[in-house]
Amino acid sequence: MKRIVVLGSSGSIGGQTLDVVSKLKNISVVGLSVKKNILVLKDQIKKFHPKYVCVGNFDDAKDLKIWLKRNNFKTTVFSGDKGLEEIVSVPNADMIVAAIVGAAGLKSIFKAVKEKKDVAIANKEVLVCAGLELMELSRKNGVKILPVDSEHSAIFQCCCGAKKSQIKKILLTASGGPFYKYKKDFSKITLEQALVHPTWKMGKKITVDSATLMNKGLEAIETSVLFGVPIEKVEILIHPQSTVHSMVEFNDGAVIAQLSNPDMRLPIQYALTYPERVTSNIKSLDLVQLKKLEFFKPDFRKFPCLQLAYDCAKKGLQYPAVLNASNEIAVSAFLNGKIKFTDIARVVNNTVEAYSPSKRISVRTSVNADMWSRNFAISLIDSKISKGCGFS
Ligand code: NDP
Ligand code: MG
Repeated sequence: MKRIVVLGSSGSIGGQTLDVVSKLKNISVVGLSVKKNILVLKDQIKKFHPKYVCVGNFDDAKDLKIWLKRNNFKTTVFSGDKGLEEIVSVPNADMIVAAIVGAAGLKSIFKAVKEKKDVAIANKEVLVCAGLELMELSRKNGVKILPVDSEHSAIFQCCCGAKKSQIKKILLTASGGPFYKYKKDFSKITLEQALVHPTWKMGKKITVDSATLMNKGLEAIETSVLFGVPIEKVEILIHPQSTVHSMVEFNDGAVIAQLSNPDMRLPIQYALTYPERVTSNIKSLDLVQLKKLEFFKPDFRKFPCLQLAYDCAKKGLQYPAVLNASNEIAVSAFLNGKIKFTDIARVVNNTVEAYSPSKRISVRTSVNADMWSRNFAISLIDSKISKGCGFS
């Protein structure tokens, strides 16, 4: 029996993880965490009877304890960032599913690895912010970091134990998002338009990232970190059918691809059951009905976030952390109607340009850069709004 803790259980990945678990025999849920979605958590407690839960703040924890007592549950409740570190450390958990959105998941993932728990990771922002340090720590502690992101699960499956020196390049596929073929003025794109993704139903932050293609930029960095290859070996291909989830070309010219109908429950299940492959409910792929598989080069000028991500990856040091943090702030401002769609890349660019890096590479310098970037991006947005002028 594998015992798991799901961080971010009320989210898109968290919910699908529980859906997968409910159909598997050998996995039990010992812990769940949400930030503020207590109603969803209560339903999940009724269904999975976890021994531990964690919520975002102390007051919610207090109310939840009363509800648990009234309903005869013997669940321990943690709260806040400290609570996340406590729930990943519980002795009776073997694996942590990291499905929190944003760099907010960083401390809990590092703590999990320190506690020698395997991590199934969806939370790509942590890999972008301090991924090299996380991989180093996982090697030292003999911990597995298993990809949940569909492309990275695909690459992992294509590599199948091959040495990284045998990889010629990685072909990271992208659906292209809702604006890949958009011919109109990008600055007029509304929140409603940006929140409609052609293939995947996901949380709001990643849906906006998929529209700007920052998601693919973050994923290129995620690829470089997880598979230990330089960013120059990661090539993005727009693939509107979202059927080939990524490919690896090896030194001898062989290209190995992983295909399936797009359904996040497949990579989630593989991360949970690895190295086993067990039966799933995922619809069989019908290539005859699909008829065509297309691939195009992305337009880096139309989607400046992609260029910014590659530039930051090449600069190294804390630049990926700066990219990620300023993007989180900019996306949140766009979701709150404070800035335009095209301002997202401008906020990120201005923050990256203003950053003075530290020569020291460590989790601390990355976390400091993350904090500096958030403050810089927030004051940049606020000052533009108060002056009523646009971004350059
Ligand atoms: P959602 O927004 O749907 O869910 C986020 C989850 O994290 C929720 O449970 C939320 O709790 C919790 N959460 C948010 N902020 C905090 C915080 N500061 N501290 C603790 N918990 C927090 O996101 P997704 O499920 O879409 O994405 C999760 C991660 O997986 C992201 O990194 C994303 O890039 C990645 N990913 C997602 C895919 C998808 O298909 N959705 C595909 C591949 C990767 P609450 O509900 O209470 O706010
Ligand atoms: Mg992905």
